[in-house]
Order: sequence, then structure tokens, then C-alpha cells
Amino acid sequence: MAHLGTLPPALGFLVRAHTGAGAAPQGPVATRALHAEAGGALSAQVLSATVLHGPGTDPGRAWTRAGDTVVVVAGEFYNQDELRSVLPGSPACDSDAELLAALFDRYDLHAFRLVNGRFAAVVASGARLCAATDHAGSVPLYLRPAPGDIRIATEAKALAAQGSPRGPSLPETRRVPGLPGVRQVPAGTVLELAVDSADGSLHRTWEPPSARRILSEDAACRAVRGALEQAVERRLAVGTKPLVVLSGGIDSSAVAALAAAHGPLDTLSMGTDLSDEFPQAEVVARHLATDHSELVIPMDTLLRRLPYTVWAAETLDADIVEYLLPLVGLYRELPDTPRRVLTGYGADIPLAGMHREDRLPQLDTAVTHDMATFDGLNEMSPVLAAAHGHWTSHPYWDRDVLDLLVGLEAGLKRRHGRDKWVLRAAMTDLLPEETVSRPKLGVHEGSGVSVAFTRLLSDNGVPDRDIATAKTLVVRELFDRTVAEGGHPDQVSGESAIHAALRRLRQGAA
Ligand code: AMP
Ligand code: MG
Repeated sequence: MAHLGTLPPALGFLVRAHTGAGAAPQGPVATRALHAEAGGALSAQVLSATVLHGPGTDPGRAWTRAGDTVVVVAGEFYNQDELRSVLPGSPACDSDAELLAALFDRYDLHAFRLVNGRFAAVVASGARLCAATDHAGSVPLYLRPAPGDIRIATEAKALAAQGSPRGPSLPETRRVPGLPGVRQVPAGTVLELAVDSADGSLHRTWEPPSARRILSEDAACRAVRGALEQAVERRLAVGTKPLVVLSGGIDSSAVAALAAAHGPLDTLSMGTDLSDEFPQAEVVARHLATDHSELVIPMDTLLRRLPYTVWAAETLDADIVEYLLPLVGLYRELPDTPRRVLTGYGADIPLAGMHREDRLPQLDTAVTHDMATFDGLNEMSPVLAAAHGHWTSHPYWDRDVLDLLVGLEAGLKRRHGRDKWVLRAAMTDLLPEETVSRPKLGVHEGSGVSVAFTRLLSDNGVPDRDIATAKTLVVRELFDRTVAEGGHPDQVSGESAIHAALRRLRQGAA
């Protein structure tokens, strides 16, 4: 097992690299955490950081200084043993930050090609500043670059209010609508900047495979099972009882089954007064003998979490907000003690689980398209749970699992009339047959959120043909109020955002 704690040393960070005088960075964040100062003066820049950390975790493990280099890491690495093995003399490096410092010293920027993790990192070295995401960009990373004063944060809202002068536009990074001057670092990249000019270049450290592997059924199932077993095991912390958020679908049930092999496990299913998947989850929980609970969140309450969800996810995509709303609602209801949560999130993207027909060209087109467009949606942002002090991890988006799943030929994903065939077949010995063969149900469907959000808009007079547009406008409105303007979501009225969105809709139609 990797040496993980319940929470990683940092849930997020705010960083400022400057050549003049300046204080440690501050700004609004959704992450519920303690704030610790870090960093120091280097030969050509001052790196000041605020580390966002949970109670009982040592923020000193989230950063390190070695010579003329400071490293700050939010999140965690999953292949620490592999990483240690390529360092001369196998040094102890007992934090990911120390490990990254040693790797950077040996490989420079290429160090980030080696890491399989859920992290965002900053390396300040000499006059250079590097900002890196993991392969999936699963910990979102934003920056506001100005010559001699570069600010970086794991939440965009922290950079929204900062009045530093506009810097270079760094065209390879992503513009953040409504936040002029703020850029998002793409998934699987490291952005290298010169602190004095704020000029930079982007280096890719990961790309989804475009080639497809042909394997026998047996070999494919063994490979998927082995990779997923390892990804789950690497996400468990010694002495911490994990929590799997369980719908009773194949994705989360597989994660629960593999985690249950390592010791006691909590599972939790949420539902609403409109809809739930409780019976299906209970079948799995009973089969695996987990400590299982059910949580009912009334739909009215859940819909009131829309501002909160947009605030935490910092996404402008209405579909993503619908997927995330039930889980954000769930994380909010967990007791305060920090939890390490494993999910089945993301399996449908490399396996085209939402592809509901047999034709393989369309299936592979869907996989290729989704792998080219996931970035920037913040679907896997840790903030969703960290806003209530918890940490999530998503085994299907482990770098090794993802490489394997994306790269399987389409006929292994859709086979014998089944979606996600290879995953189902790989898990048959560990789960009840009804779970293995259960058809896909998205969390937004299973909880009734999509239908309820639609009804909320219909009740406010939105015609059917405008529902999708209206959802997008509502999310945009909430983004502006909570992320760009820094309003706390509890003070932002969903109602008034809906009315503002409706006004825009009518203006657009006029
Ligand atoms: P899905 O959209 O069904 O693929 O959901 C993504 C992930 O969210 C699942 O793999 C589960 O880990 C979690 N999840 C979905 N629905 C529920 C639910 N009703 N209760 C708890 N967790 C859920
Ligand atoms: Mg589901």
C-alpha cells in the first residue's frame, strides 16, 4: 500500500511568485481547510504559498525546499515506489513534494511524465516557475500571469479579485470565461514561465492513446482486472476505513468489491424523494458485507445546492453540474470527520458506457471525442468534496487504468450485446450476476436530478425547446455570481439566477 493518509498533505494551494516584495497569497476558496504559509526566497524570485490542508495533516509535507528550488504539491501520487526506484540511491523522500523535488533535479520538466497521481504542483527553480497538472487535470489549476508577479491557485475564484496588471495571454492555456486575465492549465501539461517576463511555454506530459490494442477476451479481462485492482489498492490509506459512494452500477460496485478485499469498508448510496437506486446498491453491499448506509436528500434541498455545486466545481457546463449535484449534495451531508472517498466516476468515458447501440465506429468516435473534450470541465475536481473537508479519488481515471481502457479495441468495450463488456466480464467472480448485467444508469438519472432541474425551469415558464439553453444560462449566471464575483453560494439565490437566465433567454430570442 502507498503511504497515504486519510487526506493528502494539501487539498489545494495559492501560490505567488514575484521578483519584488509581496505578501503570501490570499483569496476566497471553496475548499474547507486550514491555511499554512510556505515557500521562501530563491536566488531570482520569492515563492510564497498558502497551503490548504485538513485538520491533523502536516502542511510541511505539501512542500519542500532543496537548494534554489521550492516545490508545492496539492493532492497525491500513486506510483511512489516506481518513482523512488528511478532515483539514485533510492532516497527516502517521504513526501510527494520531496519526491518531486528529487525527480525534477534529475529529469527537469520531464519529471511530470513519470508521475501517476491526482495532483497539481508548482516548482519554482532559479528564475523559472513551472505549473503542472496530472494527466487528467483532475486537480484544476489556474494562473494569473503578470511580469514579475505570477499567481497560481487550485481554484479560479482565488484569482478573480486580484487586481494585478494584465500579463501575456499564454494562448496554449485556457481562457476562463468571466475571469479576464485568468488562465487554466490544461490536463496533462506543465506550463513553464519566466517569472520576470511571465512569458511561457506549455509542455505536454500525457495524451490519450490514439492506437487500439487487440487482446483476447481472457487477456483483456485479466489486464483490466489487474490494473483496476492496483488502482484501488494504491488509493487506500493504512489504518483508514475508506468510503465508496455506491450506486449499485457496475462501475462503483467494482470499486467497492476490490476495496472490500483489503478490509472493512463503508458504502453509501444517496437518493431523493423522487428516485433512488437503493435496492440495487443494497444487493452489492450485502454481497460484499460492507457497512452500508442510505441517504435521502429531498429534491428541493438538492436543487438549492446548484449555486454551491457551481461554486465548488467552477464549471460552466450544465450537464456536468447535473452529474455533480447529487454527489456534492452527498458530500455535504457526510459527518465532519474527514473521509477518504473512492468513486466509480469516469468509467463511461474510456469505455463509452453512455453509447447505447452496437456500432463500433460510433463507439470509438465517442471515446475519441470524449477524451479530446473532457479537459476544463472539472468533473473530477477534489473541491466538490474538499468544500466539506473530504478527499475523493477516482480509480478509473488512474493513469494506468485510463491508458489501458482507452486503448482497448472497441469490440472489447461493446460485446455480446453488452455495454462496458470487458469491465463486466472482469468482475463476474466478485459481484452478483444482477449487478454485473445491470444496465447503465447515470447518477443524474438515478437521482432524478435532470428531470427535476428541467421541471424547475418549465415551472418558471421555459418552453421545452429552450430547456438545454436555459440550463446553460443558469449555470453561467451562478458561475458569474459565485466564482467571478466571489459571492458565497449560501448568499446566492438560485431563484434569482434562474430569473436572470430567463431574462437573457428572452433577450436572445427577441
Ligand atoms: P454514474 O453517473 O452512475 O456513473 O455515477 C458516477 C459515480 O458516482 C458512481 O460510480 C458512484 O461512485 C457515484 N454514484 C452514482 N450514483 C450514486 C448514488 N445514488 N449514491 C452514491 N453514489 C453514487
Ligand atoms: Mg450509475
